[in-house]
Amino acid sequence: MARQISDKYWNPEIETMSPKEMERLQLTRLKKQLTYNYNHSLLYRSKFEQAGMKPEDVRSFEDFRLIPLTGKDEQRRTQEESIQELGHPFGPRTVTCAPQEKIVRLSSTSGTSGMPTLYALTQRDVDIVSELHARRFWMVGIRPGHRILQGLSLSMFTGGLPLSQGIMHAGACAVPVGSDSGTRRVLDFITLTAPHVLFTTPSFAQYLLEQSPKLIGKDASTLGIKWVFPVGEPGAGNIEVRKLLSKGFGGAQICDQTGGGHPFQGAECVEPPDVYSGMHFTSADYCVLELVDPKTKKHVEMKDGATGEMVMTFLEWEGTPFQRYAYGDLLQVFATPCACGRPGLRFKIIGRADDMLIVKGVNVFPEAIKKEILKFVPRVTGFFRIVLDRPGPSVVPPLKIRIEYGQGMQETDVAILEAEMQRAFRDTVRITPRFLWVPPESIPRETKKTKLIEISESKRASLLRGEGGQVAWIVCCEFCS
Ligand SMILES: [Zn+2]
Repeated sequence: MARQISDKYWNPEIETMSPKEMERLQLTRLKKQLTYNYNHSLLYRSKFEQAGMKPEDVRSFEDFRLIPLTGKDEQRRTQEESIQELGHPFGPRTVTCAPQEKIVRLSSTSGTSGMPTLYALTQRDVDIVSELHARRFWMVGIRPGHRILQGLSLSMFTGGLPLSQGIMHAGACAVPVGSDSGTRRVLDFITLTAPHVLFTTPSFAQYLLEQSPKLIGKDASTLGIKWVFPVGEPGAGNIEVRKLLSKGFGGAQICDQTGGGHPFQGAECVEPPDVYSGMHFTSADYCVLELVDPKTKKHVEMKDGATGEMVMTFLEWEGTPFQRYAYGDLLQVFATPCACGRPGLRFKIIGRADDMLIVKGVNVFPEAIKKEILKFVPRVTGFFRIVLDRPGPSVVPPLKIRIEYGQGMQETDVAILEAEMQRAFRDTVRITPRFLWVPPESIPRETKKTKLIEISESKRASLLRGEGGQVAWIVCCEFCS
């Protein structure tokens, strides 16, 4: 039967399945997937050997959890070995299981912490991703006739072509401008194409609010954006970010989403900006989700409110199937029924495990700092960086925050503001930071994911030898970008 625009679910059979039925479906698919992984990846085979198991020994989720985790470092190492040995990154030691002739698309990570890791997809995988994208877009109200402007990096990223294909599969219209093309171009295409949805990182959305009046002479609230889908950073679960973006874009619906060029996907159902109850896990039929303790890597039970490091296993997957793959994102899960009636788990992305800082025994996430700072907009611009003298997680107090004061603030205003902010931080974040004040627009704006933590290099002076034997000293300090 053809889908009607009034239909609540894209795939009613799967989306209304009870958690028990879903577990049964997952287990059936899991057994098949593990056999496939064992037969096509030497790395995965070694995981079974370490546990003294064969795929047929996995009869339950408890058995499955005996297989050791896979990490990004292993993916990167085997990828490098494959390039050295075979001249390509898809050899049998890697986690890519499909033969090269079946691979039709590659995506990669940003590679900010080393060589990018690649994800290969077969046509079947591509079709599943498109189906999963369509499922969650439909859930939040996207229908044919809606235009979705892609304000994310397009190059190799899952927010590029994979997202375009998902948008088209849902019957909506993709507007693939890309944040790399520049802020002006993104704003020009918003004016030209009148998109209903802006799909971007929370920090780039925030930057567009600031730049829209300057670059195109229009307040962002007049651009006609109905939905903002903030992805790529945990910001959309942050009430202050939600309120700021919703107000800035003229009352737009804020709908938290996973980026997702793979089968771990979720989206928030319709909620007001000052409420957040997590994203529905909309892809449980293609992904087994687990939580482990980030330090001990022991299993954490997925009960309501539980937090832990996310571990993913893809199902029905051919290209690069993740198997008990842990890559450092911390999640909180919610199991209480949602008002929308959709069954299954919801989750919130708390942050990267390696972004957590410890200040005098207090665990601090950059998102908690952002939340507090945004309460002081417009006396601050909302742009800041956490400056560390050495890599975390332990920080010798005070924690330093380079922060922009708002337009028109005088020195005396800043002194009053600083005292207020320090009190607020003491009460809510339980730390007293030192603010390093800088004028508006002196902190670099990122069109991609924003790294809120930077390492101060004030003690480092590097000697650069330029053309013609000139010698120049470049002193990098925490105020240089
Ligand atoms: Zn819901």
